[in-house]
Amino acid sequence: MRHFPLFLDLSGRTALVVGSGPIAERKADPLRKAGANVVVRARFDPADLHGCVLAIGADAPEEDLLALSAAAQAIGIPVNVVDRPALCSFITPAIIDRDPITIAVSSSGTAPVLARLIRARIEAMIPPAFGRLAGLAERFKAEIRQLLPDVAQRRRVLETLLTGRAADLVFAGREEEAAAVFSETLRTGKPSAGMVYLVGAGPGAADLMTLRAQRLLGEADVIVHDRLIGDSVLDMARRDADRIYVGKVRAHHCVLQEDINGLLVQLAREGRKVVRLKGGDPFVFGRGGEEAEALQAAGVDFEVVPGVTAALACAAQARIPLTHREAARSVTLLTGHTKAGRLEVDFAPLVQLGGTIAVYMGIVSLPQLRDGLFAHGLARDTPAMLIERGGTAEQRELRAPLDRLVAEGPAWSTQGPTLVLIGRAVGRGIALLDPMASTAKP
Ligand code: SAH
Repeated sequence: MRHFPLFLDLSGRTALVVGSGPIAERKADPLRKAGANVVVRARFDPADLHGCVLAIGADAPEEDLLALSAAAQAIGIPVNVVDRPALCSFITPAIIDRDPITIAVSSSGTAPVLARLIRARIEAMIPPAFGRLAGLAERFKAEIRQLLPDVAQRRRVLETLLTGRAADLVFAGREEEAAAVFSETLRTGKPSAGMVYLVGAGPGAADLMTLRAQRLLGEADVIVHDRLIGDSVLDMARRDADRIYVGKVRAHHCVLQEDINGLLVQLAREGRKVVRLKGGDPFVFGRGGEEAEALQAAGVDFEVVPGVTAALACAAQARIPLTHREAARSVTLLTGHTKAGRLEVDFAPLVQLGGTIAVYMGIVSLPQLRDGLFAHGLARDTPAMLIERGGTAEQRELRAPLDRLVAEGPAWSTQGPTLVLIGRAVGRGIALLDPMASTAKP
């Protein structure tokens, strides 16, 4: 370790910043945030060091920076001169501010860019709500000490509290309920009931999951998932978490929806933190609504975490604007699911709307879909597209006018999850730049 990290209490103390440009301002800002009286001077005057606990040299003339560094070190005031390690007695870290939690990252001055990249990763891992969680612990500080005088026991209880239900509620913005759970657990010493998260995993690429979904996957005791969830997503789960597969393959339901509902309720009642992971968004054709209703009816608390739904992921990767001022003013998410072999779609308003239609589970009912749309006046040459495994590295696309697409679709399909896009905006797909064409020609 080249430098010793510490956190300095600057409230009400004076810090000197020498410099007059944007760098000086950037250095003064966090000092002010920490409560310091910051004196900013364009030039260095030794008298300014009087009463200071810290000095920073920024964009000032060379002789001033040398003098500042020498004078401060001579009287033992910590000094930092921006980008001049030889003139520094301390260095400033990259900061993640989740007040009161503060994380500082340093590369000991060797690679500040790397330190900033690390900071970005940590920021993504530690949601802003962590500060609020610390605030909750602070609120109960006196009570905790009184109820749990034994240090080891106190630590155990706090660990459970800060990773359990109370923490989940804080992250969900339900602060008062969190405080109630916190206080109840402190008094009874009993762990609280479990909780179910209906989490959208996105289209299958791990980096299209939300940060919230990633965090919950890392914390869950048990993950209940279906077929659309790939390994790259499941790899984010805690290693010792239980995984329960309840996948369905079209037409043969291996696990009944009622059984899934019952399983979620049972797991939560065992006090477990349950992540019900669903492809795309949990509330778009995922029967997430039914699961939510079952949990509600059983009195089990739950949260819903949105995900990137297939239509958005497919369109983005295929560079198709779902809406376009000149081509589509609406997007309809439609299910191609049939009941007793029949597609239950009200075609008239759909055609009238004239926007983009995204059909989920639509590949088997494509002929019915085509007939219905054409019968209600949709133009035969309306642009359309099949997108298989959209939003992943294996995305495949078939573009053709709707009538031809329906004819060619079955032979083209390789049985992956497929979305159908129909509408004039689909014809406005924006082609990739040809890398050869883009190199400047004289
Ligand atoms: N909740 C999911 C949809 C579940 S229904 C979501 O919001 O995306 C399952 C259907 O979604 C599939 O039959 C297919 O039509 C579509 N789908 C899901 N993932 C897909 C993907 N990666 N590419 C194309 N379509 C997908």
